[in-house]
Amino acid sequence: MVNNEINEKQRKHLKLLPGVDHILEKAKTNSLFNDIPKPVVIKSVRSVIAKRRESILGNNKIFSDSDLTDASILFDVEKLVQEDMQSNLKRVINATGVVVHTNLGRSLLAKAALENMAKIAGGYSNLEFDLLNGRRGSRYSLVEDILCEISGAESAMVVNNNAGAVFLSLDTVAPQKEVIVSRGELVEIGGSFRIPDVMEKSGAILKEVGTTNRTHLKDYKNALSENTGLLLKVHTSNYSVVGFTAAVSLEQMVELGNKHRLPVMEDLGSGTFVDFSKYNMTKEPTIQESVASGADIITFSGDKLLGGPQAGIIIGNKIIIDRIKQNPLARALRIDKLTLAALEITLRLYREPEKAVKAIPTLRMLTIPLSDIKNRAEKLAKLLSDIEEPDFNKSGLSVNVANMSSRAGGGALPLLDLPSKAVRISIAGMSVNSIEKAMRRNDPPIIGRIEEDLFVLDLRTIHNEELAFIVSAIKQIIKN
Ligand SMILES: *Cc1c(COP(=O)(O)O)cnc(C)c1O
Repeated sequence: MVNNEINEKQRKHLKLLPGVDHILEKAKTNSLFNDIPKPVVIKSVRSVIAKRRESILGNNKIFSDSDLTDASILFDVEKLVQEDMQSNLKRVINATGVVVHTNLGRSLLAKAALENMAKIAGGYSNLEFDLLNGRRGSRYSLVEDILCEISGAESAMVVNNNAGAVFLSLDTVAPQKEVIVSRGELVEIGGSFRIPDVMEKSGAILKEVGTTNRTHLKDYKNALSENTGLLLKVHTSNYSVVGFTAAVSLEQMVELGNKHRLPVMEDLGSGTFVDFSKYNMTKEPTIQESVASGADIITFSGDKLLGGPQAGIIIGNKIIIDRIKQNPLARALRIDKLTLAALEITLRLYREPEKAVKAIPTLRMLTIPLSDIKNRAEKLAKLLSDIEEPDFNKSGLSVNVANMSSRAGGGALPLLDLPSKAVRISIAGMSVNSIEKAMRRNDPPIIGRIEEDLFVLDLRTIHNEELAFIVSAIKQIIKN
């Protein structure tokens, strides 16, 4: 950028601006940069100096000589280097109260699953090696027995995620065939998973029946033709059709399918092995119930209500599952060994459902007693009030504990309000949006909600060990 009209001050500043090599020399003698890879230091130095040059040429009014000292430049280089050295994927504190928060990574793994994952990741394993016979084995077999044991299904197979499970099943069972689905079940899940679009990509032909609010067995019957390949039920996980409604049960669909020798599939989405009605929550269809109703294929996610790693699980009729395993596309959707290591252990926990509810974080957070959340909220409120004395008297920090509703999230139990407790924060002279931003940019980032002009931290999804991070973030905000 050549500018003929640079003024005296700009000319002087350009002269004062140190060169990249000069700053690199200075950095060499600074212990802060000892363990930083050289390319990172060079990149940061170049970037800071380029920014300074831009400011000079842009005639930035607040720019002064002091911005051109080695110390000033090195200070900015260090900040940039620190940012660059952090992993892009960071651990965050989920203060939203949404338990299966898709944007924040859905489910946290149980401790035993984490341990097994680390063990398998750090060594060789029998991923595709049959230790009993010394032959090549199948990775799918590693979780098949346990899936069949806890679900009652005949056969099982796992892929990368549930979208993949649905796609692979349709591609195997109904290519160029009509798949009958109720208009009330043509769901879109966040992140552009839409049943009609997945169907089209798989080569299956969507045959919609019924209306948005009411679909009857006769609608399915009337739609049957030579070219029907599958009857599909989709669990409307992230919304609910209420009011004047009618839907055909899975049992009825299975009966119709049997009569016409047609397979029946159910996409459960957020499949669960636990009956949530036992914990004062809305009844969700369990995986076992779907199996018992006789569906040929059932698909669900590993990381929604199941509380395991991202995975797509397919269970059901052995003949059909064998065909799915043989589908060449299965290779493109295949599950990796770290997922298998975590999934196997998570599934084993379901052998004792009462223990699973305590050991699997997603289930623990969904079923945690309100009194526990209340205690945690009061503890956080106390810790925050304590920082006001004696130094922060004038901080303007105001804290209270309030009733709150948390959500299950992950497109599950959409109408369920989980009674919860939250700590609500305001700081005099600071907008709630600024508080939200400062918390989000904290290390570790703290993701909360804004309600009624207050910054809200729902304690359902915050762990005890995370309270101290919240307190120090607020301290930092007050100080600045
Ligand atoms: C979530 C969901 C999917 C997609 O599952 P992923 O594990 O996110 O790929 C498919 N169908 C239904 C009904 C769902 O709820």
